[in-house]
Amino acid sequence: MASDVFVDEALPRLDLAAKYSRASADTVDRLRHAERFTEVSIPVRKDDGSLEVFTGYRCRYNTVRGPAKGGIRYHPDVSSGEVRALAFWMTFKCATVGIPFGGGKGGVIVDPRKLSERELEALSRGYMRGMADVLGPDIDVPAPDVYTNAKIMGWMADEFDTIRRGRYPGVITGKPVARGGSLGRDDATARGGFVCLQQIEKKRGWNPKDITVAIQGFGNAGQHFARLADEAGYTVVAVSDSKGGIHDPNGLDVRDALHTKTETGRLPKQGKAISNEDLLELEVDVLVPAALENAVTKDNAKKVKADVLIELANGPLTKEADEVLAKSETLVVPDILANAGGVTVSYFEWTQNISGYYWKLETVHERLGEIMSDAFNQVYDLMQSENIPMRTACYAHALNRLADAME
Ligand code: GLU
Repeated sequence: MASDVFVDEALPRLDLAAKYSRASADTVDRLRHAERFTEVSIPVRKDDGSLEVFTGYRCRYNTVRGPAKGGIRYHPDVSSGEVRALAFWMTFKCATVGIPFGGGKGGVIVDPRKLSERELEALSRGYMRGMADVLGPDIDVPAPDVYTNAKIMGWMADEFDTIRRGRYPGVITGKPVARGGSLGRDDATARGGFVCLQQIEKKRGWNPKDITVAIQGFGNAGQHFARLADEAGYTVVAVSDSKGGIHDPNGLDVRDALHTKTETGRLPKQGKAISNEDLLELEVDVLVPAALENAVTKDNAKKVKADVLIELANGPLTKEADEVLAKSETLVVPDILANAGGVTVSYFEWTQNISGYYWKLETVHERLGEIMSDAFNQVYDLMQSENIPMRTACYAHALNRLADAME
């Protein structure tokens, strides 16, 4: 049977956390199941006149703490199991940082890089037409995820408004600022992860310039994290995208890497070429997987030498890799905490949409910093007092909040 990331990777983490939480067995049982799972087919007329029918999913995992919240992913490897797992993670992510949302996730099986702009718009509007009955500002609120962006969110919001004959900016977050988006949403995921790094810096008395950082994945999260780390004086020694990476032990020219990637879609030639696998095994202080699930497996987990691993991607460590690293010296800051900055600023966006009052960028940064550092320290303290891995502490902390709401 094909492996199912929900069964193999998501549920075991719930069982582990249940041991350290006050949640009842009934609550844990309830959380083993999604509230609702929707599948739609999306016919798209291509530019050459042919028709292609895509499959789209939306999982509303849990709404006990508020409307479901979570992104929509466009990727050829999207599957129903992956969407369910990601929706489960969103439930725990929102509870970890204490924002008033449940968890959801969506996806379309597609390689968006192979579509023209018009085809992409048709697909995005088609997804919203298929899902309009199960989405809404007070039910389930999507956002960007892998290979989706502000423009796509804008098309979807517009389609929803057309269907409902009204104005519902809170139906989706991560919109263009001109269409009700929040300032600071674009780099929010990276900024949240960076706040975690700053908390560790404080606890360990680090001087940023002595600290080396390697980042796997150079999409939205990876690029902004590289920029923030570089601006704060950290030495970014390696970055990679899906085609491979670059490594310079003395530090990369991050601005050039960002510029070249934006202009050409590729990384520049700097330092030495390095594979994605080798990047994960570098002798660095901080390793940041910022690409897709299951980048670190039981085979390469033993070779991770970083002191701190910040999971900017969702689910970058397999369960087995996690067990290996839990026994090592590496501090793993789990995804549902490390990358919660994105959904936190989505919450700010939704709040601004509902109230109709828009915030300054400094206000967004200040409130994001406060939520992220509070969540980091609550989870860190639980990790220390129970002497458990940070991931287990994070799930237990989130599970307590879910239990409080359910019970
Ligand atoms: N896709 C992002 C995540 O996985 C953001 C979700 C959101 O903003 O709702 O956290």
